[in-house]
Amino acid sequence: MIGFNLNIFVATGSKTIEYKKILEKEIKALSFECNIIEDISRNSEVNAIIYSDDSEISDFSIFPDKAVIFSIFAGVEKTLLNKSIRQPLVRLIDIEMTECMAEWCAAHVLRYHLDLDVFIKPEKNEWMPYSKERLLANQVHIGILGLGTLGSAAAKKLRKLDFNVTGWSTTEKNLSGIKSLVGATGLAKILAKSDYLILLLPLTEKTKNIINSGSLKMVKKGAILINAGRGGLIEDNDLLQALDRGKLSRCTLDVFNEEPLPPEHPFWAHEKVTVTPHISAPTRLQSSIKSILKNIARIKKGLQPIGLVPKERFY
Ligand code: NAP
Repeated sequence: MIGFNLNIFVATGSKTIEYKKILEKEIKALSFECNIIEDISRNSEVNAIIYSDDSEISDFSIFPDKAVIFSIFAGVEKTLLNKSIRQPLVRLIDIEMTECMAEWCAAHVLRYHLDLDVFIKPEKNEWMPYSKERLLANQVHIGILGLGTLGSAAAKKLRKLDFNVTGWSTTEKNLSGIKSLVGATGLAKILAKSDYLILLLPLTEKTKNIINSGSLKMVKKGAILINAGRGGLIEDNDLLQALDRGKLSRCTLDVFNEEPLPPEHPFWAHEKVTVTPHISAPTRLQSSIKSILKNIARIKKGLQPIGLVPKERFY
């Protein structure tokens, strides 16, 4: 893949200048031997491409087949639609992004778990007795659909807080204190048992609209849904109906079928929905560059990069 002379091309769209600056700084700091290729006419010399979906480059046939594409995103469903990509594709796995997601998921669970909304911005300045005996974390079940890099980090964080945590994934996992379920039976079980459902699945043909009227029937009454995976995991109208009928009690949505979420979308005004603008775990520039350079160093040592995407799997 990457040989002795490392020539990196940065194609991160609106962030290309920022990325190049940080890349230069990190290359210096690490005394990393490599060149940043500025001139696209030197495309045949490029062997690493730092890429985002809003890149100025869409035709990858101009680059050598052996060049490696490093996405600055964890989710690569859009990139995989680009049929000119024959090169190996590596998605971003970054410790800071992972930690960010785990913190965000924990925060949104704790918000509901502790009824924080009741006390933040009260309608009246009134000392109200609060007699509700709230559950303890160890009396609450959290189900995480998608127990990969981000899902397992969120699972561990919530487990540390004493919640009962179960994850669902394609392959069975062995994570201390966390129950792992797979397949259709596993899905039915996790939906039925969870007080909180966190979506951290990638968007694929198999996961598209996984939250729909059918699966919502299986959900525990009054459960809370938190989606930080992709908007396409949810059938919006079915979710709205489940909220209106009380099947789900609340939800926090960070990702949407259409982004930015249009101002007229019913999610904005719905009293049971919290909208956040795709901020649960944004790519962190410096940390992502460090992760990519570490991955390049792995390739130079003859190791497989972390996050190499098996394209036939679609995530
Ligand atoms: P990952 O490591 O690939 O994890 C994906 C998990 O989903 C894996 O556990 C995988 O199972 C499971 N999975 C995939 N297809 C499945 C299916 N059909 N049935 C059951 N389980 C399935 O990905 P990640 O890094 O954790 O990221 C997850 C997603 O989060 C990304 O794809 C992206 O869409 C989203 N994301 C959002 C933000 C944000 O700011 N909102 C930021 C970063 C990422 P296996 O483990 O068995 O393969």
